[in-house]
Amino acid sequence: MRIHLCGVRGSTPAPGAEFLRYGGHTSCVAIAHGDGGAPALILDAGTGLRRVTGLLGGPPFAGTIVLTHLHWDHVHGLPFFSAGDRDGARATLLLPEQDGGAQAEELLARGMSPPHFPIGPSGLRGQWSFATISPGTFKAEGFTVEAREVPHKGGRTFGYRVCDGHSVIAYIPDHCPADLGPGPDGWGEYHPAVLALAAGADVLIHDAFWLPEEVTAQALLGHAAADYAVGLARRAGARRVLLAHHKPDRSDEALDRLAARFRADPSIAVAAEGQVIGC
Ligand SMILES: [Zn+2]
Ligand SMILES: [Zn+2]
Repeated sequence: MRIHLCGVRGSTPAPGAEFLRYGGHTSCVAIAHGDGGAPALILDAGTGLRRVTGLLGGPPFAGTIVLTHLHWDHVHGLPFFSAGDRDGARATLLLPEQDGGAQAEELLARGMSPPHFPIGPSGLRGQWSFATISPGTFKAEGFTVEAREVPHKGGRTFGYRVCDGHSVIAYIPDHCPADLGPGPDGWGEYHPAVLALAAGADVLIHDAFWLPEEVTAQALLGHAAADYAVGLARRAGARRVLLAHHKPDRSDEALDRLAARFRADPSIAVAAEGQVIGC
């Protein structure tokens, strides 16, 4: 697999000189097969989705976009994905089924339709289809994808485990393990869903919104601490962990300091936009 980190910021984009090296785009990971093909499976449609048009190098997008959940930082790139919003594009968009059982297109349209935005999902050009998914395993673009529900805040949220028959990537960008208790290290519970998603993964991309000194009962709401992501990787036997979904005001210097804390262990890295990982 070739994994393109197109957006590693959480909550809202972070433009500005102090965010250049780790990047300001919100959540988006594009995955291609290792044979040099174009990215065909996209995890989340934050503003980083705009970068995928450049990765495709001209042709329209043909593939599947899977959303972890419907928060703005995971969908706002959708109408700005020019390789997908054009004639000749083909996109299947999958998102977690929400309480109440609304259709996928209706759920998306709640945040993307007039008066909030000029067009609704059906206004995207090309062939788009929208569907909800439940926890379980499905095939998409030659990958096997396993979806499991993880605790977050405000809307049902999934984490994903993607396998191409050779390598495994686990993607859990928004996760509040403290919802299930402090866990053995105090950062939140290492619960069965995330342990299964990350088990033996070649690469784990995980929520690292908080630093330990920021973690209070209040601050834990919605997200995880970097140290939880590291602890999860160790317990699940993941070979590499990328700390991601950075707090929007976390500057390059602050992220350098985070990286320095884990410098002794080469399996731990701070995710940066534009990074390409082969596995
Ligand atoms: Zn998020
Ligand atoms: Zn979220």
